[in-house]
Order: sequence, then structure tokens, then C-alpha cells
Amino acid sequence: MIFGAHESIAGGVSNAIERGKKATCDTIQIFNKSNNQWRAKKLEEKELDKYFQAIEETGVTVATSHTSYLINIASPNEELNQKSYYALKEEMERCELLKIPNLVIHPGSHTGSGEETGLNKIADSINKLFAELDSHNQVNLLLETTAGQGTNLGYTFEQLSYIIDKVEHNEKLGVCLDTCHIFAAGYPLVEPKDYKKTMEKFDEVIGLDRLKIIHINDSKKEFGSKKDRHEHIGKGFIGLDGFRNIVNDRRLKKIPMILETPKGEDLAEDIENLRVLRSLIKK
Ligand code: FE
Ligand code: FE
Ligand code: ZN
Repeated sequence: MIFGAHESIAGGVSNAIERGKKATCDTIQIFNKSNNQWRAKKLEEKELDKYFQAIEETGVTVATSHTSYLINIASPNEELNQKSYYALKEEMERCELLKIPNLVIHPGSHTGSGEETGLNKIADSINKLFAELDSHNQVNLLLETTAGQGTNLGYTFEQLSYIIDKVEHNEKLGVCLDTCHIFAAGYPLVEPKDYKKTMEKFDEVIGLDRLKIIHINDSKKEFGSKKDRHEHIGKGFIGLDGFRNIVNDRRLKKIPMILETPKGEDLAEDIENLRVLRSLIKK
């Protein structure tokens, strides 16, 4: 299996690679810019050189990037929707520059306009994106499964499949499955027979071939709570039994599993979570 964590780019993108190495990651996720600002500083040649050199030296790859939390391509507010669209397009371009194969996005919140209206806005935006992006941009855009907090869309597999179907050239459209989010949204993972059903449902509605990244987080909140609160592996309601199902699923062998749990400067929590995950694999 391929394991890793989200690592900070503080001090430059190359630092994220070094942090990944320190945390025993095979691969990592990064923000390609500050996650709470609209504007991004241009990536300097020198920084890019350092970044690619760090990847080569450490063997730690970057499996995916995650978009800024400000982006909402489901927004009924035209100004915010436009701003989100251009920010997303810029992030797709930055991923290409950084040779990151995937960009994860939260589908968006309809903020009162209704689910169908929101889902259609998302699909329109992605259609425009794929049409306007340079044809050599090969970055996959991954819709992340959500917990269904507030007016967040993407908390059922059907909603994601609805968007995928509405996108005309959807070859580069994939899915990121967040274990904490789907569990909170009401997809069981703990009992082996329930885990099996959840994955069958995913395959039937979306298709396992669309699954490119897994966010591997335990849940601080109970099953079906619709609350998005990440917990360390084995310390939450999914528990070690749930993660044992996931890390022993041969179909997921090539899908990077990325931690998104709180950590200190020394990355001790990442190291421990990764150790636990690896220890659950049956020989
Ligand atoms: Fe996310
Ligand atoms: Fe996530
Ligand atoms: Zn979350």
C-alpha cells in the first residue's frame, strides 16, 4: 500500500517533501499555495529546482494537491463563483508546473440555492475549466466525498456521479474518498460485511476506476453525524477494525492513502498514525 500525509509548504514547496521524508511518508499531499488566500505568489525557478531535487533525493512523491478552502464553484453568487473558477484554474496550472498528477476539490456548498442548482453549477464550472485549460494540462481534478455539513454537496456517491455524468469530457475527472467524511455521511466501514457493501456501492454508483486518492482519517464524531471532525487512526469511531478493512483491500493497493490529522512541528503524530496503519496489514 502507498501511505502518506498532508504536509505543510511553509518556507517553500520543497520543505513539504522534507517533512514527508521525516514523517516516513511514501507520498504526500500539499496545498500549492496558501490555503486561505485568493492570490498566489508565482512559483520561482529556484524554488521549483529545489522542489524537484528534494523529490529525487528523498524518493517521496507528491500524489496530490488540495485546493484552497475559499473556492466554491457551487456558489449562486456570481462574483464568488467567478473568483472560485479562476482560482481553481490557476491551481490546475500550478499543479502542472509542479508535476502533481491530481488536484482535490470540495465540490462546493449551495448556500441556500438548492442541491440540484448547486450540482449543476459545479458541472458547468468543470465543463468550462476543461474547455479552457491548455490541452497539455494532464492534471486530474478529484471531487472529494464530503460529510454533508451545512449545505455542502458531495455527501452521497450519487451526487458525485451526477456531476461526473454532466461533465462532457470527464476523462480527467476523478474522486477522492475521505474515510472520515463518508463515515460521517452514513456509509459504514467498521464491520467487514458493511465495508464490503460500502465499497460495492461506490463501485456501482461511481466506479472504482474513478478513485485516485484516499484521505485516511478516523472520525471524532459518530456514524451518520454529518460532522467533519478528523481523529487520529484508531482513536475515533471508525477504529482499528475499520482501517484494517481498508488497508487489506487489494483493490486499493495503488491508491495513495493520505492522513489529514493534526500534528506538531516534530510530526510525531504522522509517524505514529503511519506506523499503526502499516501494522494493520496482514502478512
Ligand atoms: Fe478536503
Ligand atoms: Fe479530506
Ligand atoms: Zn474533513
